[in-house]
Amino acid sequence: MDCQLTMSRDLEGIDVKVILEKTGDLLDKGAPEGAGARIEKQSVSGDKIFLTITSGRYVRPHDAVYRLKNFLSTHLGKEYHVGVRGIHALRYEIELELDKEPKKTFTLPFVKEMTFSGKSCRMVLENLDEEFLQNNYVDRIVTLVSEKIEAQHYEGKAEHWELMWASPEKKHAWDKDPTVEMERKNWIMHRGRGQWIYGPMATRIVKTFESIVLEELVKPLEFSEMIFPKCETWDIWKKSGHAKSIYGEIYYLCQPKTRDKEYWEDVIDTYKITGEVPLHLIKDKIKEPIGGVTYAQCPAFWPYVDGKTLADESLPLKVFDRSGTSMRYESGGIHGIERVDEFHRIELVWSGYPEQVREVRSKIIERYKHIFNDILDLEWRMAWVTPWFMAQEGLIGVKDETEKRDIGTIDFESYLPYRGTRKESEWLEFQNASNNGDKYTKGFNVKSQKGSELWSGCTGIGMERWLATFTAQKGLDIEKWPKEFLKRFGEVPQEIKFL
Ligand code: ATP
Ligand code: ZN
Ligand code: MG
Repeated sequence: MDCQLTMSRDLEGIDVKVILEKTGDLLDKGAPEGAGARIEKQSVSGDKIFLTITSGRYVRPHDAVYRLKNFLSTHLGKEYHVGVRGIHALRYEIELELDKEPKKTFTLPFVKEMTFSGKSCRMVLENLDEEFLQNNYVDRIVTLVSEKIEAQHYEGKAEHWELMWASPEKKHAWDKDPTVEMERKNWIMHRGRGQWIYGPMATRIVKTFESIVLEELVKPLEFSEMIFPKCETWDIWKKSGHAKSIYGEIYYLCQPKTRDKEYWEDVIDTYKITGEVPLHLIKDKIKEPIGGVTYAQCPAFWPYVDGKTLADESLPLKVFDRSGTSMRYESGGIHGIERVDEFHRIELVWSGYPEQVREVRSKIIERYKHIFNDILDLEWRMAWVTPWFMAQEGLIGVKDETEKRDIGTIDFESYLPYRGTRKESEWLEFQNASNNGDKYTKGFNVKSQKGSELWSGCTGIGMERWLATFTAQKGLDIEKWPKEFLKRFGEVPQEIKFL
């Protein structure tokens, strides 16, 4: 690394070289003998000291330069009343030995030159300020290189999937695509961009599901209802880990630069004249996004307990939210109701000591079995999948066998007859249940009364996915629907007729 230290005044008459010879083992601390950092070159000009520092993997040059900064401050300060004003790296060259050869080359932000050759990687960075050096951006860049290469090797491999439980095969009412048939009957209407209007009939089905969730799951397990915000700001996604990945799926939220009416007058007038909303004008009048519409639902709960210590008497904490929609950009195209941009989900969140978190999840699974087997009479299965947050955060694979079915996610999947045979067709993930370990409690700095480890879990129940599953298996003919479901369905709502 070539760097420059700017001092508080001209260094004329001070022999910096002699002072730097007194550093002793300063640059070797923390490294095996002889493997520390070294000053290869040095020179002084005016108020600047130029240094070329090299090192192996132990004491990185950006650490070494701060050790030198302290050293110089002490020595030059006492005798000559000179301090270090600033540090600036002109050029930083890194050579890395990689575990795996990259499948294709890539570039990284801040890295000027990046070349790969077999399992080695050479990077050149230029003009790095103190923030860059002090906040370990260099180390993060080094880690990111390995992570990206890991990801390249993981890509294309099927997601880790392990069957845990499957219902018996069932006889289904039909093998049609329920979205098409429901649209034909005006039960649902597409509004473009993966958004649907649910007519009285489809709404009644969804509301029946909701009441089943309330009566058969939420009440017996004593979850309390809360209302989570539906705008998730960057601070939330930074702590939940979503900021590491979801950019291509966010519905971004922007505030106006001002609510001053005059500021918006040209937009208003243009609209009044042309009848078109002038998006090109609006684009410049809004601020950068503050975040986006709810993506995963539970992250918006966590600021409630951020930085707090939970009392033992409140554990396990059990809450749920059904107060609004989640949105994800599923990239254009018209999908059926099973993949929509705006969806309705009931999210249960629980937190407690590890044993409590495990226990809540197994109770939830028992309740789900009762609902899907005895009330909805579905053909479904449970699978252990790669923890979603590991995949989303770019942390690949499962750590070890014992953690395997503890921390992580269970996907609940249903067979959709219209998609083909049980063996060959893709089943639909209609919900999941996760034990998130200490991911959220750590991320949001939540402590337990005992001071020991605190975990959490969540389960997201997708109403559109339930609707897709139920109608794909049971058809649209009410006569053929399961009795236990009909008991809770009530009177058939009045249809809206069109002429
Ligand atoms: P998929 O692989 O089908 O896209 P996902 O892995 O993205 O699903 P999660 O992030 O695990 O889904 O979300 C939890 C739950 O939220 C899902 O089980 C599902 O019920 C619901 N969900 C997610 N995305 C959608 C969507 N686009 N439309 C409807 N429901 C959704
Ligand atoms: Zn969740
Ligand atoms: Mg998805």
